[in-house]
Amino acid sequence: MPRIEKTEALARVEAERHRLPASFEGCVMCALARGFPADTERLAESPRALAVLDRFAARRGHVLVVLRRHVESIAALSWDEYAEVQKLAWEATRALEHVLAPRRTFVAALGAATTRVNSFPHHHVHVIPIEAGDTQDRPAQVLTWELGVYVYEEGEAKALGEALRGSWPARE
Ligand SMILES: [Zn+2]
Repeated sequence: MPRIEKTEALARVEAERHRLPASFEGCVMCALARGFPADTERLAESPRALAVLDRFAARRGHVLVVLRRHVESIAALSWDEYAEVQKLAWEATRALEHVLAPRRTFVAALGAATTRVNSFPHHHVHVIPIEAGDTQDRPAQVLTWELGVYVYEEGEAKALGEALRGSWPARE
């Protein structure tokens, strides 16, 4: 899985954003919640949230859990919405542990204080597996694009998506 430079990743995100239907008002998370881009690996869905493979990955297997509704602050979320996002993050962690056997899995709700190309205020949670032997494994080294961004090669995301869906925990 190749790692691309931050500048290249930002250019790709910006280009994709311009191709989004206008109805999403430039919000990549709203687009993901409604099935754009179409080649995104959708891993699991619930009424208020969904989990997809992030195509600009901090690490292989980076999952994004996205609230369907455009809400910009946790304070504005209902408990049910917040809980559904967290439940999908918990499920993603279990599926990732089964498929990739990471040494650790980071779960983070991030967000920049100012507008940035690679940060969206729409509520979402990152689930990032850290594999054994990763020497840049501090949160500050993982939760940044400064050291580059991983992108999947042809067929790689599809295969990983299939494996994760196959290992996704069953709902009770
Ligand atoms: Zn949005």
